[in-house]
Amino acid sequence: MQLFLVNYDTHYEIEQLSRMFFKGLTVEKCADIPPLPQQDYILIVKTDSGFDYTVNIKRTESKSTAALDPDGPKEEMQLCLGAYKLYQSATGSGLPWGVLTGVRPVRLMRNLYKAEGDLEKVKEKFRKDYLVSEEKIDLCTNVFNIQKPVIDCGNPQDYSLYISIPFCPSRCSYCSFVSTSIKTAGHLMQGYVDNLCEEIRYTAKKAAETGLNLKTIYMGGGTPTAITAAMLEQVMKTVQECFDLSKVLEYTVEAGRPDCTDLEKLQIIKKYGATRVSINPQTFSDNVLKAIGRNHTHADFLRCVADARTAGFDSINMDLIAGLPEDTVEGFEKSLRGCIRLGAENITVHTLTLKRASNLVIKNEEHHYDDVEKMIAKNAILADYGYKPYYMYRQKSTVKNLENVGFSQNGHESLYNIYIMEEIQTIISCGAGGVSKVVAADGDLKRVYNYKYPQEYIKDFDAIIDRKDQVFDICRQFGLDR
Ligand code: SF4
Repeated sequence: MQLFLVNYDTHYEIEQLSRMFFKGLTVEKCADIPPLPQQDYILIVKTDSGFDYTVNIKRTESKSTAALDPDGPKEEMQLCLGAYKLYQSATGSGLPWGVLTGVRPVRLMRNLYKAEGDLEKVKEKFRKDYLVSEEKIDLCTNVFNIQKPVIDCGNPQDYSLYISIPFCPSRCSYCSFVSTSIKTAGHLMQGYVDNLCEEIRYTAKKAAETGLNLKTIYMGGGTPTAITAAMLEQVMKTVQECFDLSKVLEYTVEAGRPDCTDLEKLQIIKKYGATRVSINPQTFSDNVLKAIGRNHTHADFLRCVADARTAGFDSINMDLIAGLPEDTVEGFEKSLRGCIRLGAENITVHTLTLKRASNLVIKNEEHHYDDVEKMIAKNAILADYGYKPYYMYRQKSTVKNLENVGFSQNGHESLYNIYIMEEIQTIISCGAGGVSKVVAADGDLKRVYNYKYPQEYIKDFDAIIDRKDQVFDICRQFGLDR
């Protein structure tokens, strides 16, 4: 399918929206109406008064016209609204998030709330201007209400520390993170950990000089428990020595993979002050685990959760993914109910995202994703057991344009997840693949990227320190120093 956009320059939103209806769509911007193919094209022409739309699917043509409303939403959004309505009638199906293509619907709701001061008016805007379904408006509103007190008491000098351990026991087929298999890169781990500890020490010193307050710590990756117990202890001991953990509100370590997480590592994580771990089954079905390239079984996951409880953790997150190859609606429900039965304090439900860098996409594996909406609908079960949605984000290329939602028991909401997803607090990152985000009091945000891969991180450590200096220079420019 080809979209011809005539006499209109801005095309990001319309391109994203059109791709959600028509897979593989390409966009051609033209000054005049070009010669059109016989079938399968979209023609959108900007006129003096608005937009003319034509959709041709298998030689069946649908047309509409939309006049620009000077009091309506921004022009590109009006372009999308007209296109959405025609796409919906031409294809017979709509999208749960309407014309919203952005990754952070809750932030949009918060910004509109700031401007309107009335949540009902904001919801009406979601309904009318963005054509969002009632179900998604409710989801967004619930998340907004839970986040509001957390966000309202934020202080610009607060920050969170992210520590990246970019190694994993094997690569999951859907993964697009910076993560290196320990089989091929195990020899890099000690050098990496030594540099990481150096970067953590430097960060702690600069943050103290700048007068920032550490609020949460998140160790992720990769899989932090992929490194040896001794290395994990080295990193966590460094963190304990460098920061006053008694003032830290939350300290999470991702112990995501049961195939590299044991009681010894979990006891180290607990001993050095972590308050929360994430142990991620992704699914409770062994055939699905095999299909996605994870080396562990469901029994390994159960053992790992029992070890985490033995180590003393009373806050455990479990990640699930809806839409995995070979999973079924029944299989997904079994996984969801299984997490509930195990008493997970947090359950995060992701919708499968087909990222370009993932093996699923690279190997062009054929799977059908027709059931994913039915799987996500099963999330309703969580409310019966006291779980509430507290953070949410969307990604490009997510199957059926759905979302990822973190659910929590009262009082177990992860602050870090709210800070990072809503971009309302400075996050300083250490380690390969880390991205520091400095957030000013007025919401302005600047990013500084660390090297992506462990090899370059080990080789050019001076550059890492230079980039850390950049982070603190930005903090000063933003007036975050005291
Ligand atoms: S465990 Fe996570 S980071 Fe590691 S390969 Fe799998 S999805 Fe990627």
